[in-house]
Amino acid sequence: MTVWDDVVGQEAAIEVLRNAVAAAREIERTSRGARSGHGPAPDPPRGGAQQGMTHAWLISGPPGSGRSNAARAFAAALQCPDDGCGHCHQCTTALSGTHADVTLVATEHVQLRVADVRPLVSLAQRSPSGGRWRVIVIEDADRLNDSSGNVLLKAVEEPPERTVWLLCAPSADDVLTTIRSRCRRIGLRIPPVEEVAKLLVRRDGADPGVAAFAARSAQSHIGLARRLALDEAARIRRREVLKLPGKLRSVGAAVLAAGQLVEVAAEESKARTTERDAVERAALLHSLGADGLSTLPPAVRSQVRQLEENQKRRATRAQRDVLDRSLVDLLSLYRDVLVLQFGAIGGGSGVELVNAELADLLWAEAQSSTATATLRRMEAIGQARERIEANVSPLLAVEALMVQLRPAA
Ligand SMILES: [Zn+2]
Repeated sequence: MTVWDDVVGQEAAIEVLRNAVAAAREIERTSRGARSGHGPAPDPPRGGAQQGMTHAWLISGPPGSGRSNAARAFAAALQCPDDGCGHCHQCTTALSGTHADVTLVATEHVQLRVADVRPLVSLAQRSPSGGRWRVIVIEDADRLNDSSGNVLLKAVEEPPERTVWLLCAPSADDVLTTIRSRCRRIGLRIPPVEEVAKLLVRRDGADPGVAAFAARSAQSHIGLARRLALDEAARIRRREVLKLPGKLRSVGAAVLAAGQLVEVAAEESKARTTERDAVERAALLHSLGADGLSTLPPAVRSQVRQLEENQKRRATRAQRDVLDRSLVDLLSLYRDVLVLQFGAIGGGSGVELVNAELADLLWAEAQSSTATATLRRMEAIGQARERIEANVSPLLAVEALMVQLRPAA
């Protein structure tokens, strides 16, 4: 087993990263030789920009393709004395995010702000405590704004010898031009369904049948597939969402369905954030020496208020993400309907239904409408997603959508 095993379906990217690790070893060896006086250090290998180690990387790939997995594996391989064995202390701590020289930055805010980036820039100046590499992983580099991007730019341009930046984003185009032009790019692809299923069995101990269903339903999105495989409630919720279009008999029913969808998203995101909010609050009060006080001093109160604002923003973001996922599920339903309407299924075509377990429902929908109508509905879902992303009230956007999804009279 190695750290690369869980980076599924990304052979090309892994090859580049492994070469970089080998080049990094070479740099470590020569600089050690130079320090201990064993003759002059040889020149670094030529052409290193393409072949070898680089200080700034941009790992892009569609949601769920495993960007952050790939970044962690790379970080672990750089720290491991054995190039990423997967089981030593260096590997396990780097992968879990507790390695002293590996910093993982994930934001749930809509943007990465200057205040988020500045500490990273000073951290980047510090030598790695373990003597190998200081690795800073920014999981949402697409959320840098002009100001925070500018703060980061300088650090990415002139990094200290042993600092490595790993920026992740859905696509390179989502990252500020100034930043991405200074990064070496690694593109991840959507991993094959079978490989995602195998990963769920091997890594998460999922039942093989459930894992296959989850990987297919999640359309190879590794994180979603994992949740579907391990959480029965998530599977039930998804099924409910897919049955919604069948219930849209009238405008009233459509409005009702929209309300349900938005409410479920709110509940699910709340279930995910509430516990963490409480832990964060307790930790903050503890760090300020204010736990157990019935009345908070003003200075503490303002810090608590700041935390609460951050948590509220995070909750909004989480709710939007859950809702968006439901819309992607709906999209997969109509995609299947379209496949049936085009008669493109089976027969060595390589096309499979994402929601094969709902075949009856899909056939009924396919026969009662036309491909043109299906395409129009898919477009409406795309519009709703864009509107929600652009801050339109989720309920309004989903209501408008549900009315458009109604079957023709
Ligand atoms: Zn190791």
